[in-house]
Amino acid sequence: MGLAISLALILALGFSGWRLASRISHSRRRRRLPAESAATAVVVRSFDEIDEWLTESRCACSGSLTSLGEASEELDGRRLRIVRSECSRCEEERSLYFDVTRIFN
Ligand SMILES: [Zn+2]
Repeated sequence: MGLAISLALILALGFSGWRLASRISHSRRRRRLPAESAATAVVVRSFDEIDEWLTESRCACSGSLTSLGEASEELDGRRLRIVRSECSRCEEERSLYFDVTRIFN
């Protein structure tokens, strides 16, 4: 009986560890995708392009994205607009990065 419980515990720990590891690698992989980080910020020439991008983009679950709010940031001389978005289906929140430097120059 004790052995069965320890075995179940080991399996449960292994499973949650595996889930955590896969979640971390998933978010690392995504950070290299366009707009998912400051390094891969999408260069836009107008704020309308940000709206278009949001309309055309889909979450991994194929749900559509809704903007929850925007913030501005300056990084290495670039102006970034960070849009907090939420998936209409799985409700996952993501920050999307846009390089708006050209709009101001
Ligand atoms: Zn989703």
